[in-house]
Amino acid sequence: MKWMNDSTAADEDLLLALLNTTPVVDGEPTDVLADRFANGSADAGAGELRELRELRELRELRDELQAVVRGETGAEHVNARLADVKLVPAIDSSGAVRWRLDGSGDALVGRALLGWLAVVEKGSSRLRPCANDECQLFLLDRSKSNTARWCSMATCGNRLKARRHQARVQGAPAAAGS
Ligand SMILES: [Zn+2]
Repeated sequence: MKWMNDSTAADEDLLLALLNTTPVVDGEPTDVLADRFANGSADAGAGELRELRELRELRELRDELQAVVRGETGAEHVNARLADVKLVPAIDSSGAVRWRLDGSGDALVGRALLGWLAVVEKGSSRLRPCANDECQLFLLDRSKSNTARWCSMATCGNRLKARRHQARVQGAPAAAGS
């Protein structure tokens, strides 16, 4: 039996991890969903994946979510999936009310959908694609200012900054002439 995490942050993290399973590696788009979420992988929640069916559902959900977050489609399909998420209440030994996901097979899909629900509740614009056009990753902005643009400052942020700096150093003539 899996009890819900008290915080929704874990589900949001799972959602983001799911969205970020199609990184560009050496200029080529890749799909690392099976590596990240299949049994035996080191990632959180991986042990819950018991069936190939769930991997397929997870990939379907990811593809839909990516299209939604990129603004290519509306969220109707994803939102309709929420009807499959069932939470069962119970009172634990300390007297606290707990909610658990009903069913075990679809735990990752259910948790990713709960992550989506939490994101929507707080404002879905906080979940967005990285501003680097060559990057396929997403970011979840938890800052107050809500101005983050990069999946990672260490990679995309610095790369773009360096490129802009280089363009400035190499000079306006090229830019002006183009
Ligand atoms: Zn990026």
